[in-house]
Amino acid sequence: MRRQNCSLPTHRNMQYKIWSTYPPTLSRTPNGYMKVYGGTVTKLIAGKMEIPTDTALPMSTTLAQFEWQRPVSKPFQPHVRTVEGSKGKTYTIKSTPSGKWECSCSGYTFRRTCKHIKGV
Ligand SMILES: [Zn+2]
Repeated sequence: MRRQNCSLPTHRNMQYKIWSTYPPTLSRTPNGYMKVYGGTVTKLIAGKMEIPTDTALPMSTTLAQFEWQRPVSKPFQPHVRTVEGSKGKTYTIKSTPSGKWECSCSGYTFRRTCKHIKGV
């Protein structure tokens, strides 16, 4: 990608949309531009155009020009396994977002743990 000092239109009414884990902040660079920060910045849009998240912005840029969006996190996809119980029944064990397992057997329902989970 070409590095330019500033490839953006410098008009004051440029509207930005930023996707970042924290609300955006602006910081002045040593060479007289502004850079936007916000934890992990996943996307930056100037007007209707997506621009690199580390683009140097015009010095006149203010936070009022930014619309903050939290990055969309992917929906949790559990691991699902089927286990056979002692009486020929099958149970479904499923991982949870916290990294634990859930089982469809009655033992799990009462005790929050069971032999099927221990066997994973
Ligand atoms: Zn179980």
